[in-house]
Amino acid sequence: MIPVPGFEGRKVAVLGLARSGLAAAQALVAGGAEVLCWDDGQEARDRAASAGFALHDPGRAGSLDGVARLIVSPGIPHLYPAPNRHVAAALAAGVPVDNDVGLFFRALGRADWAAMDAPPRVVAVTGSNGKSTTTALIHHILTSAGRPAQMGGNIGRGVLDLDPPGEGAVIVLELSSYQLELARALTPDVAVFTNLTEDHLDRHGGMGGYFAAKRRLFAEGGPDRAVIGVDEAEGRFLAGQLAEAAEDDRVIRISAAAKLGGPGWSVSARRGFLAEWRKGRQLASVDLRDVRGLPGAHNHQNACAAWAAARALGLGPRDIAAALESFAGLPHRSQLIAEKRGVRYVNDSKATNAASAARALAAFSGIRWIAGGLGKEGGIAACAHYLDRVAKAYLIGHAAPDFAVQLGDTPQEICGDMATAVARAAAEALPGEVVLLAPAAASFDQYPDFEARGADFAALVAALPN
Ligand code: ADP
Repeated sequence: MIPVPGFEGRKVAVLGLARSGLAAAQALVAGGAEVLCWDDGQEARDRAASAGFALHDPGRAGSLDGVARLIVSPGIPHLYPAPNRHVAAALAAGVPVDNDVGLFFRALGRADWAAMDAPPRVVAVTGSNGKSTTTALIHHILTSAGRPAQMGGNIGRGVLDLDPPGEGAVIVLELSSYQLELARALTPDVAVFTNLTEDHLDRHGGMGGYFAAKRRLFAEGGPDRAVIGVDEAEGRFLAGQLAEAAEDDRVIRISAAAKLGGPGWSVSARRGFLAEWRKGRQLASVDLRDVRGLPGAHNHQNACAAWAAARALGLGPRDIAAALESFAGLPHRSQLIAEKRGVRYVNDSKATNAASAARALAAFSGIRWIAGGLGKEGGIAACAHYLDRVAKAYLIGHAAPDFAVQLGDTPQEICGDMATAVARAAAEALPGEVVLLAPAAASFDQYPDFEARGADFAALVAALPN
């Protein structure tokens, strides 16, 4: 745990008592604060009470008297679609609002860092897609190269749950837009922006608000190096705005669509060949096409981002290339889980919308596609461009009839549930083909979450004959 100093003997209110809220409460208590906890949900309140925290309703008159900060959980929308009443009351009373990420950056630097040759550093990763994969990949590259590293934030441990880092250590954080919008301090050494596509628009009051939340990572203090995906207009804008000149190498541009070069620093991977350029010279190149843990252009974008971050931390191309080869991929994200009778089985249960399913389809050919669940607006329209890669679709769940209509002439079968879909796809797949779970839909009609759906797929695949 990273104790939070600066509030010794003062009151700090914590709103939202899920994992990160409780970790913040604990870290504040460890730093000497008097913590007042609240959650509008009874279950969360009970959990906090049984963990020994005093509950304190911020709706009561006078409840904000003497409160130095309000710490708000990332899961609580504070402004859009409607202002949260507790946050609004705190702001009206002049109580500054922060979150666990802000507390983390405030608490991280300690007096003993001054005596270190290599003080700890923080890499923070944001973007619409690929955050978890990129974060895990950077962490894997660092540990493979023998560097002490920890990973947290939106993946693994909460930011304040991490251990205080020692000499030469690196903390790699995945930070969502929800975690970035309220943090009062954001001072990573290296910040990564993977890409931007429409998401969470209600919560941010539209696309402009969503982009604004993400770009706070580059504005509030500013990282030493910014790794920016330039495959969308927003990334190009951000890179251009941060750079002082074309040759300014505090910005490392990355792309999986275009070959970058020029006087600046860049890492790009068009058609699967990663190339690093700096000051008009190519410094490294790697063929990513057969790297099994990172299939498809979307993962090549993640590889570019991780490569750039690792280079910014001073690692050499050979160490990074070796670590890309040994990366196993994250569960449920284009993850190769088995090869049986010449057929590969890939679990991308995290593809809960059509845009991410399209990325998975683009990564393979000869696909036996298992899709369906609780469909989203637009169905599988975003996948239309890749249907020539689909040998046949095996449809499950609530959205199956709608997807069937949208698939048109693509061979298809309504299977209903996962067990039937896996059995049918396995029976019909030819050697060299891929059975791909990329549902393009939420899981909640048949499973508690996408992890349970992916685990069911993996268990059914494991039970298939070899
Ligand atoms: P995040 O943490 O941002 O949600 P993940 O790494 O968990 O990202 O991947 C989420 C989904 O998006 C998965 O279906 C994955 O295959 C897909 N994906 C991964 N990287 C990218 C990328 N760079 N661009 C688009 N989609 C991606």
